[in-house]
Amino acid sequence: MTILGAVASRTRVVIVGGGVLGTMHAVAARRRGFEVVQLEREAEARGASVRNFGLVWVSGRQAGPELALALRARELWEGLGAEVPGLGFRAAGSLTLAAGDAELALLKEAAARPDADQRGFELLDPAAVREVNPALRGEFAGGLHCRLDGIVEPRQALPALRRYLAGDGYEWHPGREVAEIAPNAVRDHTGAWHQGDLVILCPGAAHTGVAGRYLAGAVRRVRLQMMQTAPLAGRITTALADGDSLRYYPAYDLAARAQLPPQAQAAARACAQLLLVQRADGGLTIGDTHEYAEPFAFDVDEDAYDHLRDRAEALLGGPIPRIQRRWAGVYSEVSPDAAHALYYRAEAEPGVVLVTGPGGRGMTCSPAIAEETFG
Ligand SMILES: Cc1cc2nc3c(=O)[nH]c(=O)nc-3n(C[C@H](O)[C@H](O)[C@H](O)COP(=O)(O)OP(=O)(O)OC[C@H]3O[C@@H](n4cnc5c(N)ncnc54)[C@H](O)[C@@H]3O)c2cc1C
Repeated sequence: MTILGAVASRTRVVIVGGGVLGTMHAVAARRRGFEVVQLEREAEARGASVRNFGLVWVSGRQAGPELALALRARELWEGLGAEVPGLGFRAAGSLTLAAGDAELALLKEAAARPDADQRGFELLDPAAVREVNPALRGEFAGGLHCRLDGIVEPRQALPALRRYLAGDGYEWHPGREVAEIAPNAVRDHTGAWHQGDLVILCPGAAHTGVAGRYLAGAVRRVRLQMMQTAPLAGRITTALADGDSLRYYPAYDLAARAQLPPQAQAAARACAQLLLVQRADGGLTIGDTHEYAEPFAFDVDEDAYDHLRDRAEALLGGPIPRIQRRWAGVYSEVSPDAAHALYYRAEAEPGVVLVTGPGGRGMTCSPAIAEETFG
């Protein structure tokens, strides 16, 4: 599909969805000089884009198109971060920490990947890990430093981008739920039609809404549990991941993975990995778990939280501050049988393009996905 050809001589773009995908499409469209009208059903975005870690995560991506997309996105985030300080972009890097020899062997293998330099990988012994991140006073066998991983502030990023776009040529309409799609147009719940030379639907995990009939079978939903602590006095200089993350990310699908011991029961039950990011205000965002079978739980599971808190405290070597917030989030990802696709994009109706399903890479890749939509 040649979206660029479709819009080259056109000027008005209607975007449905106020999450990061919709908003990055708004940025990309404005940069091309198009007028943008953006509709969001809630008063403010409340989906995956404000519930995530804000990790711009290059380290674990699969070699090839996924890594290329993440690297391009990382470049775009950094550029935007310089123009929009409210994103809170920081090139903090990450440390993935090995608890024992088996995880360390896998980190060594990852550090020897042919694309290790592209990812900014370096294997560190415990003393070198503490030089990079002195807050890590706990026990670990070594760490993989990924200099390219970055952090943004998910609770601030979308309003910050909208302030950046504000002015002639950009309209933001919260509280408008799109209920009907027609060629080059959508109708919202008040009955108002919004006509565009191009309409871009970014409904996130709303798979049964107005986009549902186009998405059937192409995407699935995944639910994650998260928490956030009160501010920690010290600085945690990098994002952190524990060895369980090596089980999930494709970059670590290497020979030594087969030698990993079984996961702790609570982690295995919840498909958990520890990811930890210090927020700009000092709080720690800690997650995550993965639930794939619907109906999803409507409540949060304390066993998973106990496990994640214990893992964080083991790495930091002391108690973390009081948990102030717990939440769950749901993202949309392409179905496992189309797992070669990094996200879903298709023309739903003439002049209406549907983009969703980036999965756990959506915050990272959103600026590059938007760029690809416009060609
Ligand atoms: C807990 C959690 C942690 C994650 N951590 C990371 C991370 O650290 N790094 C990373 O790269 N990715 C991460 N992800 C994935 C990432 O957050 C998502 O892939 C990304 O936010 C998806 O963005 P989106 O705009 O498609 O969806 P959303 O953020 O869900 O936005 C979709 C928006 O569309 C609106 N909408 C839906 N239907 C309509 C309609 N009919 N009319 C009007 N508006 C509508 C919704 O209200 C919503 O605001 C995480 C996800 C979760 C849940």
